Amino acid sequence: MANDGARSEHSGLVALLEKYNHEYYVLDQPSVSDYDYDQLMQKLMALEEQFPELRTPTSPSQRVGGQALDKFESVKHLMPMLSLSNGFSDDDIEQFDRRNREGLDLDENTLIDYIAEPKLDGLAVSLLYQDGILIRAATRGDGKTGENVTENVRTIRSVPLELCLSSNLPVPSVLEVRGEIFIDKKGFEKLNQNQIDKGEKTFVNPRNAAAGSLRQLDSKVTAQRPLEIYCYSVGLVEGWAPKTHSETLEGLTNYGFRICPEIEKVKSSKGCLSYFSSLSKSRDTLDYEIDGIVYKVDRLDWQKSLGYIAKAPRWALAHKFPAQEKSTTVENIEVQVGRTGAITPVARLKPVFVGGVTVSNVTLHNQQEMERLNIQAGDTVIVRRAGDVIPQIVSVNHSLRPDSGVSFEFPRQCPVCDSPIEVKEGGVVARCTGGIICGAQLKQSVKHFASRKAMDIDGLGEKIVEQLIDEGLVSTVPDLYHLRIEQLVELERFAEKSAENLIESLEKSKATELARFLFALGMPQVGEATAQQLVDHFGTLIAIQSASVETLEAIPDIGPIMAQSIHDFLRESRQQEIIQALVSAGIHWQESEPVDQQSLADLPLSEKTVVMTGTFTSMSRSDAKKKLQSLGAKVTGSVSKKTSYVIVGADPGSKASKAEELGVEIIDEDEMLGWFD
Ligand code: NAD
Repeated sequence: MANDGARSEHSGLVALLEKYNHEYYVLDQPSVSDYDYDQLMQKLMALEEQFPELRTPTSPSQRVGGQALDKFESVKHLMPMLSLSNGFSDDDIEQFDRRNREGLDLDENTLIDYIAEPKLDGLAVSLLYQDGILIRAATRGDGKTGENVTENVRTIRSVPLELCLSSNLPVPSVLEVRGEIFIDKKGFEKLNQNQIDKGEKTFVNPRNAAAGSLRQLDSKVTAQRPLEIYCYSVGLVEGWAPKTHSETLEGLTNYGFRICPEIEKVKSSKGCLSYFSSLSKSRDTLDYEIDGIVYKVDRLDWQKSLGYIAKAPRWALAHKFPAQEKSTTVENIEVQVGRTGAITPVARLKPVFVGGVTVSNVTLHNQQEMERLNIQAGDTVIVRRAGDVIPQIVSVNHSLRPDSGVSFEFPRQCPVCDSPIEVKEGGVVARCTGGIICGAQLKQSVKHFASRKAMDIDGLGEKIVEQLIDEGLVSTVPDLYHLRIEQLVELERFAEKSAENLIESLEKSKATELARFLFALGMPQVGEATAQQLVDHFGTLIAIQSASVETLEAIPDIGPIMAQSIHDFLRESRQQEIIQALVSAGIHWQESEPVDQQSLADLPLSEKTVVMTGTFTSMSRSDAKKKLQSLGAKVTGSVSKKTSYVIVGADPGSKASKAEELGVEIIDEDEMLGWFD
């Protein structure tokens, strides 16, 4: 029997889950992450397992979704639209398969075929066709009754208004088609940008954006939203009788519905798990968000024998991906000063494990973004980290703001050197005006100067740079080359040997290449590729320093703003002094002739854009890059439709699958070596 403690824990969980359901399903505005919601639901289910008398029919564990909104007419589904049971671990999937086998009384040699489908993160709809014509579209609502959103669904171009009847399939007198309405990643970004431009509230995630867009009273608004659909099952059907789920999906395709192209038939739990692992890897390259994989028993007669539990079928399971969004709290907000003086507010978080890493700092970008989020220290926030995208705060739960919360005042003075901060472009760009006198800018400049792709000074890591500046041994970049062993050995962290090593690395770095040197100077916006282009175009440092804005603009990737900023940087007297001091300290390179632009255009890979992924056995990636560039190729980091070739080494990353998906030509290491012969 449940004691008072269990009863009160149960009612607390029910109240919380009901509140979250209302925010999620009715208001399209969740205040907690799905992960936190799922944890609470698991807790509730475990408690009800222990004390079954607490499991009433109205418990959130037994009910589907939320209530239908009054603003729409309610409609009864001909067959209920259920939810899915969740699985989180390999073990859960093996148990699911085992339960199905036991339920069907299968012998050892009979394996179950499952259809594995990406679990799209949108909202479910039911489309009702009578004699081949769309007569009604409804949201899932509470599973039995949904909202009539026919007019809005009609605006979605990929929803057929009539069945396509060119195939040999019959015309069903009744056909309820179930599918997911969603907004793809690009559409979501665009939509939120539009909201920002119009000064309106942005959507927390694509699911809420899709739900909010579909449940508009004015279908003209829906029509402007980039909604799409993938269909994945049927409800009531009269006049058509497929025997398997795969046959149903094939039939739906022939009737003109969009079916997700990633769907596959797999065998037993093993097949499910290997599909899961392969899709987990390519997830970031998909155009749309998914939050897991759904496995469904393929044979419909087996589905029927397995039947249903309260709110979900027994024959299907949603295998959820590890959370990419979690809640945590903001411990503090600070500003960071970058190499060029850019001031960036950063939220220091209570560390949270999300998307496979522990996140404790998140950039808040600029003052405008902070105002948009309305964020302050003490706030509870949802942090998202997906793929290799930098973590971000997607929303702030203002209802949990503590009275002791501290509002953030954007500083007017640099926190490091006290120089005034200049704010431009409506709060988007803030910069410390201290320049080289600012210790923070100096530290960032020296770190950049020493970095691998710049002067590559071994042993001059972050901590040492900070120490050298804090101890007053380095107050400009050229000071590095005047350091002496006797000074270094006095410092903590240094012994005779490490001091000698650092001096030796500094000596070694003096023989460099002009492109590295230019990159090391840290001109705003000038990366390695632009530095190389400057060298190719002008040949010598003196030619680059005396180039006019117009001649700089003649370089293909340099636009007017960048040309002006390179020009101003190189003409600035302080920068000229630094360059002079570095050259006097002994930095040198082989001068080269400017590369003839005409002969560049004649190179075998000119106008080709190449991306590399994986490791090569015959050379390092950076050597391969140089060789490719010497053949005229532009080497970039991400695959798009404009990419000419993706060169794939061992253990390639998601770029290989992205290339396949976009139909970009894939080249292996041997073929690449052939180009170099
Ligand atoms: P669900 O999202 O876990 O699974 C059922 C739904 O999956 C279906 O209704 C359908 O819309 C969708 N789906 C996508 N692809 C599918 C496919 N190929 N085949 C079948 N269905 C597919 O269940 P639910 O009941 O809609 O929602 C529960 C989940 O929603 C929770 O686990 C939680 O993650 C989230 N939620 C979050 C909050 C919150 O406050 N953050 C509140 C409520 C629910």
